[in-house]
Amino acid sequence: MKENTMTEKVFWKNPYQTHLETEVTSVLNNVTTLKETIFYAFSGGQESDKGSIGGFPVMEARKSDKEIFYSLPEHHDLKVGDSVAVEIDWNRRYRLMRLHFAAEVVLELMTQQLMGSTKIGAHISAEKARIDFEWPESIAGRLPNIQEQAQGVFDANVNIISEFSDEPNEKRYWKVEGFAQVPCGGTHLKQTGEVGQIQLKRKNIGKGKERAEILLVNP
Ligand SMILES: [Zn+2]
Repeated sequence: MKENTMTEKVFWKNPYQTHLETEVTSVLNNVTTLKETIFYAFSGGQESDKGSIGGFPVMEARKSDKEIFYSLPEHHDLKVGDSVAVEIDWNRRYRLMRLHFAAEVVLELMTQQLMGSTKIGAHISAEKARIDFEWPESIAGRLPNIQEQAQGVFDANVNIISEFSDEPNEKRYWKVEGFAQVPCGGTHLKQTGEVGQIQLKRKNIGKGKERAEILLVNP
């Protein structure tokens, strides 16, 4: 069963929404799609949400092109057209949003200060974020300065603007006036101050490769 309309991503319009009443638009074995969703699927290094659809735990959320597919337990009884409640684990999502934004600010500062460095990976979990890049020497000496500058952005508690740059193709960006504008399809905070206090740690992950870990000091 296929429908032409793509899932409406409410997590962009309101990234703070934790409950949604919507409709099942397709069911293929244990995989379903929804008319609208607040349930983020792994993308851009940000992990998927955890939560439930129609009371069934979501085992996996997978984004493919512009659609999001949710895997439910085999015994689910959902049918096309069913009204369902979607719930997400907000504590987890909020930490993901705070760490995601913190990592983006740190990456922006690193890119400005380590000219010619190449990002080779990034991952955001609810515990911590990490950014990996190619750089010929230890970044340990630079981290205190980068941490201080990033903290300055958070402590200023200014607005984060999140908008489409190209709505039909679902291209989005965030912007902090006077700091940066960055293309990203993740879920973003409203104010930089929501990040709170951060801590940066350096890890060596092989010759010519450096990792910066970002931790939240506040729970
Ligand atoms: Zn982002």
